Order: sequence, then structure tokens, then C-alpha cells
Amino acid sequence: MAVMDTESLTQKCQNVLEKAKLGDFFRSLGLKQSKRYRFRVYIAACPNACTQVHIADFGVIGQAIPALVGDCNACGSCIEVCEEDAITLFEDRFPLINTEYCVNCGACIKVCPKNALQIGECGYKVLAGGKLGRHPRLAKKIFSLVDEEKAVKLLEKTINFYKENCQHGERLRIVIEKVGWDSYLSSLK
Ligand code: SF4
Ligand code: SF4
Repeated sequence: MAVMDTESLTQKCQNVLEKAKLGDFFRSLGLKQSKRYRFRVYIAACPNACTQVHIADFGVIGQAIPALVGDCNACGSCIEVCEEDAITLFEDRFPLINTEYCVNCGACIKVCPKNALQIGECGYKVLAGGKLGRHPRLAKKIFSLVDEEKAVKLLEKTINFYKENCQHGERLRIVIEKVGWDSYLSSLK
């Protein structure tokens, strides 16, 4: 259930990756040819995150933040559909959304028969530093909600940071842990 059309973002991220020429970069480090070196970018159109963004070097997840903008008839459909138990009905009158539990999947918006729930804001959550291998790490959230342009800029800056600090073909997470998360986050400004 996509909440964002990611076609344009995907194309722009591909352009950034092509321009970055990471293959040439790895070769310039004089690394062993027998090992495979990677910088993975995954894009998920919704918070179900089927594309495994949490184990990507750079991951982007579509977000649709619900907002109550119309008259609610207290039917409870939004409560039923929410897999996160994020919605309660206030005094049997209108939904209250617990933002700590809500993952911005937009499912409640789609089922509301009165169109009382609508997309308040939409965009992308951005994560970095995920990897599998012998020492797996889950990616960390670096931005909660950005637009397409900012997501592309963050990818560009992340690759620049990676190329400036990677010496042995190690994955982004290892580079960040060596240099420090503060330095990485500063490089994104
Ligand atoms: S957006 Fe998804 S997680 Fe958030 S309240 Fe609606 S159904 Fe629940
Ligand atoms: S689905 Fe819409 S009309 Fe029904 S309780 Fe939720 S907000 Fe109200």
C-alpha cells in the first residue's frame, strides 16, 4: 500500500549513484579484487518497508501523516485498520492518534468513509548505516520527514562523506562509527 509515488525519487537517486562512480572510487582505493564492495540504497514507498531499507547504507521510507480535517461519524473503521493500535476514539466523537505508535502508513486515511482523515503532511523518512554481514546493524533514522529534493541532497552528501572517509571499502556504518555520528550528521548540513 504505497503512500508515495517513488518513481521520480528513484530516478534521481539513480542519477546521483551514477554520477558518484562508486565502482571507480573502490578501484582507486586499490582494494582486493576478490572482495565485493557495496553502497546500497533502498527506497520504500510506505512504512511496510518491504525493500529492506533498514539494512541499507541509505534508506528512504514514504510517510503519510494523518490529520483530522473533516466531520467524523465515529464509525471506528480507522481504529480497526490501524495495525499499531495508535488510534482511540475520544468520547465516542473523533479519533485521537498517538504519534508515538503511528508509523505514518496512511491506512486509516484510506478507509475513512467520511474523508474526515486526510494526509496532513507527506514525505520521506531517511535512514543511514544499515548492513548485514558478520556484524549486522540496523540503519538509524537521520531525518523524520523530508521532501524529495532534500532526500536526494542527503544521498549526495552521504556519498561525499563516504568517499572522503572510507579507506578500505568498509560499509558506511563502519565509516560513521569510526568518524563519529556527529561528524556524519554535520556533513549533511
Ligand atoms: S497512519 Fe497507519 S499507523 Fe498511523 S494511525 Fe493511521 S493506520 Fe495507524
Ligand atoms: S474512519 Fe473516519 S469517520 Fe470513521 S471513526 Fe475514523 S475518522 Fe471517524
